Amino acid sequence: PGFSQQSTEAQRAAERAAIATPDTARAQALARALADRPHIAGTPAQARTRDLVIAAMREAGLATEVGEYEVWLPHTVDYGVWRIQPQPKQLELREGRVPEDPTTMQHDEYPTVNGYSGTGDVTGEVVYVNYGLIEDYAQLDSIGVSVRGKVVIARYGRSFRGIKAREAEKRGALALLMYSDPQDDGYVRGDVYPEGAYRNDRGVQRGSVMNGAGDPTTPGYPSRRGARRIPIDSLPVPRIPVLPLSYGNAIELLRDVRGADIPATWQGGLPFHYHVGPGPVVARVRVFSDSATAAYKPIWNTYGIIRGSDFPDEVVIIGAHRDAWSPGAVDNVSGTVSVVEASRAVMAQVRAGWRPRRTMIFATWDAEEWGLVGSTEYVEDDSLRLMRGAVAYLNQDVSASGPSFGGGGSPSLRGLLRDVAKGVPDPSGSGSVYDVWRARTRPADGEEPAMGDPGGGSDFAGFYNHLGIPHSDWGFGGGNGIYHSNYDSYTFMERFGDPGYRYHAAAARIGAVMMMRLANADVLPYDYAEFARTMRRYLAPIDRALAQRSWGGSSASLAAAIDRMERAATAFNATRDSALAAGVPRARQVSTNAALREVERAMTRPEGLRSRPWYRNLIYVADVDNGYGTMVFPSVNEAIRYGTEALYAAELQDLVGRFDAATAAIERATRSVRGQ
Ligand code: GLU
Ligand code: CA
Ligand code: ZN
Ligand code: ZN
Repeated sequence: PGFSQQSTEAQRAAERAAIATPDTARAQALARALADRPHIAGTPAQARTRDLVIAAMREAGLATEVGEYEVWLPHTVDYGVWRIQPQPKQLELREGRVPEDPTTMQHDEYPTVNGYSGTGDVTGEVVYVNYGLIEDYAQLDSIGVSVRGKVVIARYGRSFRGIKAREAEKRGALALLMYSDPQDDGYVRGDVYPEGAYRNDRGVQRGSVMNGAGDPTTPGYPSRRGARRIPIDSLPVPRIPVLPLSYGNAIELLRDVRGADIPATWQGGLPFHYHVGPGPVVARVRVFSDSATAAYKPIWNTYGIIRGSDFPDEVVIIGAHRDAWSPGAVDNVSGTVSVVEASRAVMAQVRAGWRPRRTMIFATWDAEEWGLVGSTEYVEDDSLRLMRGAVAYLNQDVSASGPSFGGGGSPSLRGLLRDVAKGVPDPSGSGSVYDVWRARTRPADGEEPAMGDPGGGSDFAGFYNHLGIPHSDWGFGGGNGIYHSNYDSYTFMERFGDPGYRYHAAAARIGAVMMMRLANADVLPYDYAEFARTMRRYLAPIDRALAQRSWGGSSASLAAAIDRMERAATAFNATRDSALAAGVPRARQVSTNAALREVERAMTRPEGLRSRPWYRNLIYVADVDNGYGTMVFPSVNEAIRYGTEALYAAELQDLVGRFDAATAAIERATRSVRGQ
């Protein structure tokens, strides 16, 4: 859908040629160069990856630009963990070199730290808090264990690590240690690296503990050099020291913890029975950073640009973060390579005479790993243009680490992604990407494979959560235990991830066609009927939550607004298809597409969520108490969870009004496409 009859044929031919372009040998060569060494934001290695990507896109023929920002990015320079009792011992925190993995032999690993940790040097009794979730602390309360004045140790998983840090600090912990339990991504799952893909006893998950998006010193505006900064003591980062641990080191602390017995579900995969404590194990944790002297550092986004011939102010963007905690072959050299190969495939068609009607941007973002920093600063820098002209943002974060396809994003773009996946051959040779996806996930007859709702944790947040730009993402995955470890390396990719680089190429083929489709459609291929149907599924949980609280009211008014949207969208889709069959004149395309771009923008609120003003989109957001998990209709569901019945009623009414504004935009598009 989206194209008139006469544009269809040329477009299909160009797409077929673009699908044939991405090349496994080129993907491999670029992956090898980018994953040559750890490349952490704020280090010189990021100038190198910047130059590699710029050179590759220039060679392909794109116009390129570098976007530099100066951001608050303190690096840890002095850190350690000691067991003080029993048997004093300093823990060896480094992951270490692995002879089978040459990258680890040739380049030093980045320290095993958490970005934006607090600083200090503290000593206290150890308490085990399971995953460190809010409900885990509720359990501790019920057995009378407090973490005040203690060193807390939590397993990684089930929530974003920044939330674990916030919750530990809130309860008075002195420090937080987070470790990778073998039950979650180690030997309980499979053989460990380098024999297998899972985490070995020295493997560590680094990662940011900031809650929020972008440079925390410039909330809502770009971190240009010389920008005004808010005071460091008001930032949404932990004050307490936070460090990640391997399970080899976690054993050294957990084995002798006694005190309270654990609730049954708190046992992990280590070979002894776990206890809560506190003590008798005592630990010391020390973290200091360069924050007093050198915290502000330059970061670099890269942009490859193909200017639109017809609607240059309308823009389609695909992006991947280019920074990592390690050599980053999976996270996120894979996504970076997909974006570069997609740009090359599209540019080859431009050289052959095909023209994008809208402007295309192929971006790589710096400092995603620290809190979506590069992409957020870009969005804040260019928010007015993006709000008006952006058609879609496509994200590539881990595009190839195995054979299993998955996708997600705004429900408005899911139909397009499925359609594109039907036209790209699966590397397995058993049909299209869509066929293999369907065979693996086995949806019921008449249903489609399930797709992920946007939660948190990657660069779409600025586009989608802040501005309401429709967003889509996809990738090929598989199980592993090298997330944010130095063993996320070229050798890992060669042995376990995507040895033939066929999935890198397939992700790039999908990216190229998504970009070409969105750039040239006569009428933008959003599907707000699917959007409305998807939204309807989230009404029952609202009614259940209301009943549970014995509040009055129901979601009926929202249900009615969703019905109105589905009717309007179904009418639009039919009108669009018949108009396209006859041909839609350019002027009508302009007004129709302008109205369509307003639909998802209308479901944002300029003043944002009460809990987080930067988050304006009222459809999906990362759960404020989880960080990765999704909350649907956040203004309404946060009112139910944290607010009052009156606030709930007000928020429901506000959301109904926004759905109706979106429906009105769909109706304007229907009149436009008809020429009325
Ligand atoms: N993707 C990174 C992570 O999960 C950053 C996420 C964020 O800061 O929101 O660690
Ligand atoms: Ca900012
Ligand atoms: Zn990533
Ligand atoms: Zn990451």
